[in-house]
Amino acid sequence: MYQVRTCVGCRQRGNRADLIRIVNSQGFLKIDTQKSLSGRGSWLHLSSKCLETAVERSAFSRALKANMDHEQVIELTNFIEQAEKMLKN
Ligand SMILES: [Zn+2]
Repeated sequence: MYQVRTCVGCRQRGNRADLIRIVNSQGFLKIDTQKSLSGRGSWLHLSSKCLETAVERSAFSRALKANMDHEQVIELTNFIEQAEKMLKN
């Protein structure tokens, strides 16, 4: 099934399967790998560029009403870089 979601980074729409979901879990941002956690969620392309844009625009804080600290940004960056590598191989 094709479900369309909007990326918080580039604001382009994409297939739900191609985006990762990030949720506000008790005030902390969490990568929802199963895309099944309840609560407020934001969608992001598996792309370091989109992440960068989203961080610059404070898109997560605004969309999810959660603060994103430096460690969370690093964690997300690592996650996306790993995933990008896997997709290339
Ligand atoms: Zn994007």
